[in-house]
Amino acid sequence: MRLYDTLRRKIVPFEPGPVVTMYTCGITPYDSTHLGHAATYLTYDVLQRRLRDAGHETRAVRNITDVDDSILPKARELGVHYLDLAAAEMARFDADMEALGMLPAYSEPRATSAIPDIRGFIGMVIDTGHAYEAGGSVYFEVATFPRFGELSGYSRDEMLELAAERGGNVDDPNKRDPLDFVLWQPSAEDEPAWESMWGPGRPGWHIECSALCLRELGTTIDLHGGGSDLIFPHHECEAAQSEAATGEPLVRHWMHQAMVRMDGEKMSKSLGNLVFVSELSTTFHPMAIRLGVLTNHYRTEWEYSDELMPDAQRRWERWLAAGEGTGALNDVRAALDDDLDTPAAIAAIDAAVERGEGVSEAAMLLGVDFER
Ligand code: ZN
Repeated sequence: MRLYDTLRRKIVPFEPGPVVTMYTCGITPYDSTHLGHAATYLTYDVLQRRLRDAGHETRAVRNITDVDDSILPKARELGVHYLDLAAAEMARFDADMEALGMLPAYSEPRATSAIPDIRGFIGMVIDTGHAYEAGGSVYFEVATFPRFGELSGYSRDEMLELAAERGGNVDDPNKRDPLDFVLWQPSAEDEPAWESMWGPGRPGWHIECSALCLRELGTTIDLHGGGSDLIFPHHECEAAQSEAATGEPLVRHWMHQAMVRMDGEKMSKSLGNLVFVSELSTTFHPMAIRLGVLTNHYRTEWEYSDELMPDAQRRWERWLAAGEGTGALNDVRAALDDDLDTPAAIAAIDAAVERGEGVSEAAMLLGVDFER
């Protein structure tokens, strides 16, 4: 199989061993799952299906960020406990994932389950000389890590701009460099706080993923996924602190899902231009929703249109009518092995349906299950 690698900036062979370890940044459960999330998790779901088909065991971990800078203000605004908000949104997320027929995660750890791991991890970063304490916070010192910026490929100015946009607190006066990022921070008055050597507080944004990768999958994982908006700062910071702490590469292959757009903008909670899986599934079969998303290649940004799901529903019905069989199976394998080309895989199944062949097995490689 060949896949595009974000760090190497080209399509390279992806040749893992019998057990494939994968980590995908999961949701912050403060709002419903939209189609952008679904696209991300569908990509790694199809990847896992093809790897399993080729004889691998896959261990895909997906974290849940149940304490951070977005869930706490939302819980405050709603007047509910942040863990109650998390529980309600996680139940909705699980229902969406189940409806779309996603393979269950190998594990789905919560950030709040990892506080001791996170404290230990921060200790490792401090011990290796890559972090400092100031004003009750612990910061990663980017000047000690010359490879900082390699994953995203951004210049210092671009990194500063994006860090300012994406919660990097570049004006924090305790920092030695505005690109330094928080590993541990004091909690505000009404926020949850955990004891630590650096005073009571809570983890920074990036540290939970480093601690959970290590705890759940080990020092170096085969593949790290997530939306392309996480490349910087999140994944850049995650890789830096992990590699600083362990002295080993965090990831063998970085694979990012392009953004889904609507009305010309990235689909996002902050802009409110969202399409929800739960709403679509009142009109369309969940397998048609899956198919609609997968008609787009994971690496190409695409715009949501009102025709997408009706078209996908008609395709799903044509495939179902074609019945069971192994038509297009090898073509679909070849398409997926070519940088997970789901549009080519779908075209191959369409062609087999045209020839009058049954296509249930090829469809199943895309997770499109005729039994549902
Ligand atoms: Zn993450």
